[in-house]
Amino acid sequence: MEIKFNNVSYTYNPNSPIKKKALSNIDLAIKEKQINGIIGRSGSGKTTLVELLNALLIPTSGNIKVDEFIIQKDKKIVNVNNLRVNIGLVFQFPEEQFFNLKVKDEIKFGMKYFDIKADEIDNRCIEALNMVGLDDSYLNRDTFKLSSGEMRKVAIASVLAFNPKVVILDEPTIGLDSSSKKNLINLIRLLKVKYDKTIIVITHDVDLLHQISDYIFVLDNGKLVLEGDKYQVFTSEELLNYGLIPPKIIEFEKLVLENKNIKIGYRDDINDLIKDIYRYAK
Ligand code: ADP
Ligand code: MG
Repeated sequence: MEIKFNNVSYTYNPNSPIKKKALSNIDLAIKEKQINGIIGRSGSGKTTLVELLNALLIPTSGNIKVDEFIIQKDKKIVNVNNLRVNIGLVFQFPEEQFFNLKVKDEIKFGMKYFDIKADEIDNRCIEALNMVGLDDSYLNRDTFKLSSGEMRKVAIASVLAFNPKVVILDEPTIGLDSSSKKNLINLIRLLKVKYDKTIIVITHDVDLLHQISDYIFVLDNGKLVLEGDKYQVFTSEELLNYGLIPPKIIEFEKLVLENKNIKIGYRDDINDLIKDIYRYAK
């Protein structure tokens, strides 16, 4: 789906003394079928930006184009569910919003807003579970007895069940242990390479984005201050101005260059980096 922000601003409580401008004049285009990272310190406007995308919030000015849909003030979207079925939003701490006792009911719940045939619903549940790496036996498991990593996966499955083209994950790894985190990183990659999804990941975790993202948008104080492929963004001197410390792997490469005068190529993966170092050491 084509997703484009055209000069979008958003103010909370615009007519009140407590009004708060959360986004200012945002122009951006999401990269289709890639992993888009949105990064910025707390309060920079990340969550507001994605809640505009499925018309949970409506821009105070400017507009957002999502394929044929235009999200704009005073312009009613005729069938908003046709938009929302394609924009799967996994909220921050999604498991806090669970209320069904059985996993299958939690997953079905996400589908009920959309026109999905009754005889297709069970299959969709199983497919969605399989996509996140859980087998059918989870259908009848007690939602509240799952581990936190499993809960996160069920939350993602409940969005995948309605088969959105775009999957948005707000702080997906927060609160997970390192093995669940690794697991989730693999899942996000799979959603891109195997299932062709456009992914938007919001996080303040630079190391996470360094591992998974293709393209990155940096927000600061409601403004889009930097964007580019991750190599450009993470090597930018500007990053520190926005309260972001470069990923450890980049820092390491910089130190090697400064102290040993060895220039190692940019590496996504720590294992490739180790190989490089061995090669130089010989
Ligand atoms: P982030 O996700 O980057 O932490 P948010 O989009 O949640 O940032 O918030 C951006 C700004 O808008 C912050 O200053 C925040 O306090 C404010 N804000 C967020 N939600 C609301 C709300 N419901 N009412 C008023 N202000 C809000
Ligand atoms: Mg947020």
